[in-house]
Amino acid sequence: MPYAYDDQNIFAKILRGEIPCGKVMETEHTLAFHDISEQAPHHVLVIPKGPYVCFDHFATEASDAEIIDYTRTIGAVCKQLGIEPGEGGDGYRLIANAGRDAVQEVPHLHVHILGGRPLGRMLQ
Ligand code: C5P
Repeated sequence: MPYAYDDQNIFAKILRGEIPCGKVMETEHTLAFHDISEQAPHHVLVIPKGPYVCFDHFATEASDAEIIDYTRTIGAVCKQLGIEPGEGGDGYRLIANAGRDAVQEVPHLHVHILGGRPLGRMLQ
């Protein structure tokens, strides 16, 4: 089934500048901003600027340039936050909820970057 992108979702409004966000980083294809309901000392959402509903939609339909930009921006935000284990930080978790079973609240692809405290095991 083709993906139907709802351009009235809250992140589409943030991208159009209709709603403010706490911007962390912006590139040609990607925007990173603070989650308004932080679940950890560092909780940043990273979204592509293009109209992609979830990760598999993005992975199949985005251009190589968008995918590279998105991936590199996630890494750059982790580095900026000082949580990269390879750089002496204490680590982080990436989460991308997709669809009903994962309880995706906003139907625009977003990766949560969580860090700044021990996060425990996710799968037990
Ligand atoms: O992955 P999921 O769709 O459940 O997460 C959506 C996230 O978007 C939530 O963590 C919520 O706090 C965040 N959000 C936000 N700014 C808004 C609306 C939601 O940071 N204006």
